[in-house]
Amino acid sequence: MRKLIFDHALLPTGWEQNVGIEVARGVIRAVHPRAAPDGFERVAGVALPGLPNLHSHTFQRGMAGLAETRGPEGDSFWTWRQVMYRFLGNLTPDDVEAIAAFAMMEMLEGGFTALAEFHYLHHDTDGRTYDDPAELATRVAAAAHETGMGLTLLPVFYAQGGFAGAAPTEGQRRFITDLQLYSKLVEGARRAVASMDDAVVGVAPHSLRAVGPRSLGEILALAEEGPIHIHVAEQVKEVEDCLAWSGQRPVAWLLDHAPG
Ligand SMILES: [Zn+2]
Repeated sequence: MRKLIFDHALLPTGWEQNVGIEVARGVIRAVHPRAAPDGFERVAGVALPGLPNLHSHTFQRGMAGLAETRGPEGDSFWTWRQVMYRFLGNLTPDDVEAIAAFAMMEMLEGGFTALAEFHYLHHDTDGRTYDDPAELATRVAAAAHETGMGLTLLPVFYAQGGFAGAAPTEGQRRFITDLQLYSKLVEGARRAVASMDDAVVGVAPHSLRAVGPRSLGEILALAEEGPIHIHVAEQVKEVEDCLAWSGQRPVAWLLDHAPG
C-alpha cells in the first residue's frame, strides 16, 4: 500500500486540498480530503481522475511516423488511408496484440484509464476469416487485460466500400463482414471480455458510407445494453457523398433515420 498526498485533487465534490490517496496494486483504495500529512508521501502537482479515451484504433500506433510527413500536392485523408491500408496488410495477431498493449501502456502513462476501441481489423492478411472470427478482438481484449486498461470494445461492422452499396476495395479486405459474421464477432468479443472486471462490448457501424440503412437497423439490435458508436463523418468528401446519396448531411440523416 502506498499513501500519497497531493496539495490539490479534483474529487466528485470539486477541488479539495491536502488529499491523501491510498493505492494498492495500482488501484485507488481510499481517498481522504484534508488529510493530515503524517505517513503520506507528498507528490508535486495536482491529481485528476483518470480520463477516458473515447475513440481509438490501437493498431495505428504502429504506423506512427509513416504518414506524418506532407506528401506531394493532393495529399489528404484519403492518401493517409492508403498508407494505413498498406501498413495493416502485414499485421499478424501477435502484432495486433503487442501494438495494442504498447499503445495502452502509453495511454495509461498519459493519464487515460479507460478506452473505447473502435475495432475494425477483423480478418487475416488475405481477407480470410480466422478460425475464431473474433481472433483480433480477443487480442485487443488481452492487451487491455495485460495493461489494466478499462475497455469498451466496439467491433465494427463494415459492409461496403462507399455509399449506395459500392464494392469494397482490396485495402478493405480485413474489415468486411456480413451480418451473420458480424453477430459472431460481437458474441466472440463478449466472450473475450467476460472475465474482465472493467470491460464492456458495444456495436459500431463504421460509417454511413460503409453501412447501408437496412443493415444499420439490424446491427443496432445487437447492442443490447452496450453503447453504439459510429464515425458520423470523417471528411468533407464524405459529407458531400452523403448529400449526393440522400440529400442530407450525415448528422441530419442519422437524426431522421436512426432510432433515438
Ligand atoms: Zn476512427
